[in-house]
Amino acid sequence: VEHTLAVIKPDASQEHREGIISRIESAGFSISQVKETQLTREMAENFYKHHRDKAFFNSLVDYMTQGPSVMMILSKENAIAEWREMIGPVDPEKAKEVSPNSLRACFAKSILENTVHGSSDAKHAMDNIQFLFGDVCL
Ligand code: ATP
Repeated sequence: VEHTLAVIKPDASQEHREGIISRIESAGFSISQVKETQLTREMAENFYKHHRDKAFFNSLVDYMTQGPSVMMILSKENAIAEWREMIGPVDPEKAKEVSPNSLRACFAKSILENTVHGSSDAKHAMDNIQFLFGDVCL
């Protein structure tokens, strides 16, 4: 079984939480851990430190700290790739073209406010989980 970090970002954590969680469960993921957290600026800057030189970095930190997010550890065979598949491409306009049933195609407002996060590979999954949940036994 593989583990990944999923985040329902602040634009969707209230309005679409139940719909997104029911899709996650229907797709056969186990939700091993779940918590609601409002990221501080320091946490958001750290979480997205690989983007610190991008023009959108400050808007990304503003967005990620504007309200609570739902943090989840999802567990399943091939969880990392399958969750990335379910969320769709970063830009919802592209998501509507290539993956019209993806979460971003259905719910995202813009390339910035794009509803969900998923770790991109095994190293990021471990780092993301450690950062948000500390040492957990999975
Ligand atoms: P995430 O890491 O959140 O799962 P991702 O791996 O699909 O998303 P990245 O390219 O790592 O996308 O970008 C991280 C986040 O930064 C995006 O999810 C989005 O919220 C924001 N972002 C990415 N590109 C842009 C952009 N060109 N303009 C504004 N915001 C952007």
